[in-house]
Amino acid sequence: MEFSSKLLENAVNEMSQLPGIGKRTALRLVLNLLRQPKEQTLNLAKALSTMRSDIKFCKSCHNISDNDLCEICINPHRTDSLICVVEDIRDVMAIENTSSFRGLYHVLGGKISPMDGVGPNELNIQSLVDKVEQGKIKEIIFALGSTMEGDTTNFYIYKQIQDFDVVTSTISRGISVGNELEYTDEVTLGRSIINRIPFEISLKS
Ligand SMILES: [Zn+2]
Repeated sequence: MEFSSKLLENAVNEMSQLPGIGKRTALRLVLNLLRQPKEQTLNLAKALSTMRSDIKFCKSCHNISDNDLCEICINPHRTDSLICVVEDIRDVMAIENTSSFRGLYHVLGGKISPMDGVGPNELNIQSLVDKVEQGKIKEIIFALGSTMEGDTTNFYIYKQIQDFDVVTSTISRGISVGNELEYTDEVTLGRSIINRIPFEISLKS
């Protein structure tokens, strides 16, 4: 791609770093930004920059948050002894949309995937095990979606906590294999949380 402007080329190169955005799409987006009022583009740039510098991760559940503890963790009406283990914030949002879950979350930040070089130490697993060891948790619901990586991650965590006095369950498999939680409709996802099954049973099926 030949550019008549170095400034334009820089912007296109940065934009094309985003997943799923090739050079052509990046050029189209950048030209759109140039066409819209200057203030609008600057607002976007400012929103991105402020988000990147000010955003935090909840010290308890690792969800994305504006404060040290997220809105969900500080809500006194939620059951703090019930923890739903999810991969990332999109799963938290999907489950929150169902209004079927009143416990807290634990956001792992990914799934164990040796192929991608993601081991247990790259994820927020130890802090979950610590909470279990401290006796703060009565039940853990695994909600990672039934991919191979999801199953591996569930099983790894299960092995770490199985000797403690904690109930483990998994969302029922109304959710088809490989479907990510965020794409599952609210009714199905809500039902799969309410009809969760003991984790040991899911191992045998
Ligand atoms: Zn939190």
